[in-house]
Amino acid sequence: MATIYDVGAPGRRAASTPSPKRDTEDLLSLIPAGARRKHGPRLPQVSQPELVRHYTALSRLNYGVDSGFYPLGSCTMKYNPKLNEDLARLPGFTGLHPALPEKQTQGALAVLWELGELLKRISGMPAITMQPAAGAHGELTGMLLLKKYFQERGELPARSKVLLPDSAHGTNPASAAMAGFEVVSLASTRRGTVDIDTLKKALDTDVAGIMLTVPNTLGIFEDEIAAVSRLVHEAGGLTYFDGANLNAFLGRALPGNMGADIFHFNLHKTFSTPHGGGGPGAGPLAVSESLAPYLPLPDVVQDDQGFSLSWDRPRSIGRVHPYHGNFLVSLRALAYILTLGDVGLREVSAGAVLAANYLRVKLQEVFQLPYASLCKHEFVLSGQGFGEVRTMDIAKRLMDYGFHPPTVYFPLIVKEALMIEPTETEPREVLDAFAEALTLIAREAKEDPQLVKGAPHSTPVRRLDDARAARQPVLRLPFDHPDE
Ligand SMILES: *Cc1c(COP(=O)(O)O)cnc(C)c1O
Repeated sequence: MATIYDVGAPGRRAASTPSPKRDTEDLLSLIPAGARRKHGPRLPQVSQPELVRHYTALSRLNYGVDSGFYPLGSCTMKYNPKLNEDLARLPGFTGLHPALPEKQTQGALAVLWELGELLKRISGMPAITMQPAAGAHGELTGMLLLKKYFQERGELPARSKVLLPDSAHGTNPASAAMAGFEVVSLASTRRGTVDIDTLKKALDTDVAGIMLTVPNTLGIFEDEIAAVSRLVHEAGGLTYFDGANLNAFLGRALPGNMGADIFHFNLHKTFSTPHGGGGPGAGPLAVSESLAPYLPLPDVVQDDQGFSLSWDRPRSIGRVHPYHGNFLVSLRALAYILTLGDVGLREVSAGAVLAANYLRVKLQEVFQLPYASLCKHEFVLSGQGFGEVRTMDIAKRLMDYGFHPPTVYFPLIVKEALMIEPTETEPREVLDAFAEALTLIAREAKEDPQLVKGAPHSTPVRRLDDARAARQPVLRLPFDHPDE
């Protein structure tokens, strides 16, 4: 596709600006000679219709939840009610500066306070911070809390290890390692869950805690989760639950009751906010009483005067983000929770689990399901068994059928993984069409493997060389301008 520099003609402009009142030389004299350009910047020279058409054409190449089925496992491509987008654009919120006096920001503080109270109820945990800007950031914050906790108890550096099931989300070990812990991987059972015997053997006085994704990345709920928490606690460690998959049990079970000491939410995965392009997100962190004194600052508190910020937490780990994290993501989450209410939130998890199992049952006829079980919100198939056709080929071929491919090659414990998570609001006909497409591709893989291996055939660009894009990225246009 043409770039904006390939469109237009010299001298063409999309906007007219008033001429300056002072002459150019006079204005230039305000800039020190050494800081001046020797030539004008190379800007696109296009008319307004050309500009609009160029970007409109580009936007039509996008694929998102608003254009079709988007079954990206582990990412939870949410239904994002448009009403929440309107709310997040209200000028009274978007125009607020976080440093304004508290009496002028009562509405925004109320949003944060109320959301915090609701998230505490939804998780069954007593304390919370809104600061982390994403799930992985919540994990790192949680690991820093863990570190501070053991530091204060004089148990560092002794407690240097964090246990992680081999089904863990990739960000979990990364967060533990970044916080300075040694990561110990636990092999899962053949059912894809934590192996209690393996856990018992790993638990010792050098263990700070465990990080568990709930339900795990195979989409399976840890049925012995209470025992896992108890064993870790008995060994003096703490439990971190990764709550990115909360849509699987929203309104039905409380991490606090499962023994969680730390639990992060992915607001953008569970409670509205379009995501997928890398942000924005929000990863509020809920913690047990024993960790509350270390949470980041400031806190929003309420008394009879209204809402205010409290900086009174001398043992805090400090800030992990300015002020209150990504506020507009919190706002959408509050709107989503209040719109749905208790009953609606339970319907979200019902829809997520039902849609995933509906698809699983259809697809396990065609593909291997290595960890066969009733799944929660997602499930993982294997693309093995199709000779030279591999999972990547199947994923690429799905685009020819008009679908976004699922997550592939993750989790690592499934060979040739295809990780499928349908959005909870998908109508049955869409799920049927997706299952039908995958079934046809499986047949093609056997009858005409080259067709699948050459896919996609119908997209604006054909198969890309992922490795080359990462190793030799072209980050700027090759201009022949003397200043470039
Ligand atoms: C998405 C995800 C994360 C990371 O969350 P981000 O907001 O993308 O940083 C962590 N754990 C699990 C299980 C996830 O699905």
